[in-house]
Amino acid sequence: MKRLLLVFLLSSILFYSCSSNEARTYQELRMDTVCSFTFYCDNSDEIAREGFALIDKISSMIDRFDEKSELSHVNSNASGGPVKVSDELFSLIKQAYGVCEYTDGAFNIAIAPLVDLWKIGSDEARRPSDEEIESVLPLLDYRNIILDDAQKTIEFRMDGMAIDLGGAGKGYAADALASLFREKGVESAIINLGGNVYMIGQRTDGKPWTVGLQSPGSGRGEYYTTVEAIDESVVTSGAYERYFIDSDGTLYHHILSSRTGYPTDGDIVSSSIISSSSTLADMLSTACFASSLDKAEEIAEHYAVKAVFLLDDQSIIRVGF
Ligand code: ADP
Ligand code: MG
Repeated sequence: MKRLLLVFLLSSILFYSCSSNEARTYQELRMDTVCSFTFYCDNSDEIAREGFALIDKISSMIDRFDEKSELSHVNSNASGGPVKVSDELFSLIKQAYGVCEYTDGAFNIAIAPLVDLWKIGSDEARRPSDEEIESVLPLLDYRNIILDDAQKTIEFRMDGMAIDLGGAGKGYAADALASLFREKGVESAIINLGGNVYMIGQRTDGKPWTVGLQSPGSGRGEYYTTVEAIDESVVTSGAYERYFIDSDGTLYHHILSSRTGYPTDGDIVSSSIISSSSTLADMLSTACFASSLDKAEEIAEHYAVKAVFLLDDQSIIRVGF
C-alpha cells in the first residue's frame, strides 16, 4: 500500500512539475476581450484548456450580461428580498463593497444602471439625456446593497438597482488562474486578460518580468514607462481603453461617476496598480482612475500596493516603489 502511494506521489510530481525554455502562447476570446496564457512549461496544452474552462466558470458567476449567471440571479431578485449566494460570490462582493466604502463611491459596484444607459464599449454607445441620467442617479448608492455575512445573502433597498463587477472581474479571474497554474507546477508564466496581466514567478533567466505601460492615444506596443514584476499583477485603467466619440467630437470613456452620471473627469489619464492580488489591483486601478491624484495616492498607500499614475500634463507619479 505504501509503495503504491509512493509511486502515485512520484508520478504526480513528475506530471505536475514542468519547466521548459520554450514559451507557448494560447489565446482565446473570453470576458469580452482577448485572453492569453504564455507558459514556459511542457505539458501546457492541458493546463491552458483548464485555464479557459476556469474563466468560463467564473463568467457564469459574475457576468451580469449572461442572464443565467449567478450575478444575474442576484440582480433580478435582490430588490424583492435577500438572495442567497455562493460563498465565493459573497466574498468577492464583500471585498468590492469595502473598496466602495474606502473610496467613498469612486469605485462603485452599484453603477450598473448608469453603465446600461451609456452602453460604452458596445455599438449602441450614446450620450443619455439629462433626464435619463437624473432618473438613474438615486439607484447608484452602494449603501443600499445589504450584505448579510451570516446568511450569505444580498438584498437591494430599491427597485431597479443592480451590481456590476466589470471593474473587478478580470482581476478575479487572473488570481484564480494563477492559483490553478501554480497548483499544476507552473513556475513561470504570463496571464494576460485584455491587458490585465499576472506574471507568475520570474523570467527563465532569473530576472524580473518587465511590463510596459501603454501610452494613451498611441497604438498597442508603445509604452510611456515600464515596471518590474515577480509573482505580481499589473492592472491599468485608462480613458483610452473603451470609449466612444460623440457627433460633436467629445470623447466619453467607460469609467463613470455615480455623482455626476458622466464619465469621470480627473487629472489621471492612466492608472496602473501592481499587487500580488489581481482582484485588488483591478478594483484599485478603476478606483484611482476615478479619483483626484491626492485621493489616488492615499488609496494606494492605504492598500499597500504600488501604483503608477500618468497625468494629463504627461507627468508620471509613482507610489510605493
Ligand atoms: P476594463 O475592465 O475595461 O479593463 P476597468 O477595470 O477600469 O476597465 O473597469 C471598467 C468597468 O467597470 C466598466 O466597463 C463598468 O462595467 C464598470 N465601471 C464603470 N464605472 C465604474 C466605477 N466608478 N466603479 C466601479 N466600476 C465601474
Ligand atoms: Mg479595474
